Amino acid sequence: MKSVKDILNNNVLATKPLNTDLKFTQNTDPNSSRSHQNYETTEDLNPSEKFKCPTCQDRGILLEGDVAYPCSCMQMRKMENQFRHARISRVLKNCRLDRFRFDFYGPERADQTHRQGAAKALNAARSFVAECQRNPHGLGILFTGPVGSGKTYLAASIANELIEAQLQVLFLVVPDLLDELRASYKSEVNEMDLLDTARTIPILVLDDLGAHNYTDWTRNRLYSIINYRMNEQLPTVITSNLSLDEMEDYIGARTTSRIIQSSRIFRLTVEEDIRHQIYEEREGK
Ligand SMILES: [Zn+2]
Repeated sequence: MKSVKDILNNNVLATKPLNTDLKFTQNTDPNSSRSHQNYETTEDLNPSEKFKCPTCQDRGILLEGDVAYPCSCMQMRKMENQFRHARISRVLKNCRLDRFRFDFYGPERADQTHRQGAAKALNAARSFVAECQRNPHGLGILFTGPVGSGKTYLAASIANELIEAQLQVLFLVVPDLLDELRASYKSEVNEMDLLDTARTIPILVLDDLGAHNYTDWTRNRLYSIINYRMNEQLPTVITSNLSLDEMEDYIGARTTSRIIQSSRIFRLTVEEDIRHQIYEEREGK
């Protein structure tokens, strides 16, 4: 265990200066909207308003005698950063494989086709998460199926669980990627940054590889990502509502063929778009 002096000298964990000016006061103003008691600093702020972590006051360490311990918020902050770098949107951050809902795939006693497809895809997602942690150079996964069949949920769950397992993940929504590539058409530096990251990140998710407006130029960029990753055996998770024939039409035969070569393919189907089912559930219909 490092001593406090070591830690403060290295200044590694100390992110904010110590606030020694904290005083406890009684709030006597009856019209005040504030709570009965509050902490006031020279800036007249409640610690919980001023600091993201009131426990350590954003210093990242807690002192016990002259021994310093990292505060639990450090792990949280690290994780938040990893999610931000991975570009997982807020709405997808909570997807996890163990919260996968089979009831969206039809009632238990009816036709089992949808449920069986979902079970195979979920098992594949589980194996993929486990396999990536043992050997990061295995096959990727392609989830196909109509809009609202749970493909993005599985891909986001995989991404989240791998980030939690400390693997480096990048989650790219294909139409956004195409926009960014087009926007960076003239500024080579940014384009190379994004392309390079997409090529070399240990785990890449390409969500919604669908019927978008591909130009020859964006098709070539996409090919260079997929081809590089296949050659380096870096697994990619792809979701698409296109059939393989349609995929060839949109992104070209050579890219499609590399995707097939480097992926296991699973198809998800539903009776009714899951987003509609969630809407009806929420509105009590
Ligand atoms: Zn803290």
